[in-house]
Amino acid sequence: MAKKTALVTGILGQDGPYLARLLLDKGYKVYGLIRRYSNPNFGNTDYLGVTNDVEFVTGDMTDEKSLMTIFKLITPDEVYNLAAQSFVGVSWEQPKTTTEINSLGVLYLLNAMRSFAPNARLFQASTGDLFGNNNINGIQNEDVPFKPRSPYAVSKLYAYWMTVNFRESYGMFCCNGLLFNHESPIRGQEFVTRKISSGAVKIKLGLADELILGNIDGRRDWGFAGDYVEAMWLMLQHERPDDYVIATGEIHSIREFLDTAFRRLGINDWGRYVRFDSKFSRPTEVYTLWGNSEKANKTLGWYPKARFEAIVHMMVDADLERLSA
Ligand code: NDP
Ligand code: GDP
Repeated sequence: MAKKTALVTGILGQDGPYLARLLLDKGYKVYGLIRRYSNPNFGNTDYLGVTNDVEFVTGDMTDEKSLMTIFKLITPDEVYNLAAQSFVGVSWEQPKTTTEINSLGVLYLLNAMRSFAPNARLFQASTGDLFGNNNINGIQNEDVPFKPRSPYAVSKLYAYWMTVNFRESYGMFCCNGLLFNHESPIRGQEFVTRKISSGAVKIKLGLADELILGNIDGRRDWGFAGDYVEAMWLMLQHERPDDYVIATGEIHSIREFLDTAFRRLGINDWGRYVRFDSKFSRPTEVYTLWGNSEKANKTLGWYPKARFEAIVHMMVDADLERLSA
């Protein structure tokens, strides 16, 4: 049987390398879309050992022609759109770029797919951030109305509905994964989890004497990226395209994350090292993200394996190894 072909955008980010690992292990031919760089950074794909097995193609989500060219060349069976300006914090400073990549980029991708690979299956990386502070009995599932609270979330709302619209208008196999926060040792350095894991390690090693954060009263449903890419794949194997919340159903505060990370390094009093700076606070905040993945559990058979403490330890241990070296 011919190998299945997948196109993964955002291949050099956090989720891309985990997804590439999973697809390669399943025997896929994997193409990874990267932007044109003078000095590309393959650190994350190296970390997952996939750099030499992925075929990289150059394009940009904001350049429709480049996507058309890629689709003409490849005609993939499955498309995983992970590319994004994914950092909520920066989306207030760069709302236009955020919109061009996260909203229009998805429209361009859908257009290219419709023109050259209409039978391909699309996974769109949507987000639990679409719910904002809305919930039903504290929990966020597919029935909760959206109320985005950042330019990032607003941009992803457009992409969500455009993905649904292509499914309904043209019968294309398009799915949204409403992903809640998921982390790993290759999480972007500016996200609070990685900032804490690397910051705590720097303090332990004497490379820093404080960690400066914004509002640490928020709570998140943190999962492991390796588990979440499995949900992406499962969505595209199902007989019908649909939209799913992907979350662990477990919630923890940023304070608990700090406590667990510092304790892993033998430091019991993180309060001595953590300082507040309003420059890391946001104009509007999502206080609690807490997902319910019952639909994905029942329909896709997806369950997260890694839990909070194991994820924090994994991140701290990896940063300790890296920074000690
Ligand atoms: P990352 O920010 O780590 O990776 C995003 C990738 O998108 C980067 O490799 C980046 O490339 C690429 N990219 C950005 N702009 C463009 C562009 N114009 N053209 C082509 N590629 C581009 O994100 P994650 O891996 O953490 O997340 C994957 C997806 O899941 C994202 O869409 C994110 O919004 C979504 N998501 C993630 C969550 C999480 O907790 N991780 C939660 C909810 C949703 P470059 O290396 O060039 O910058
Ligand atoms: P998000 O849920 O996608 O916004 O993921 P982040 O990791 O960026 O932020 C999670 C929560 O941590 C949010 O409520 C932030 O306001 C809060 N937070 C507090 N201090 C910081 C900080 O220094 N950096 C980041 N990124 N977030 C912080």
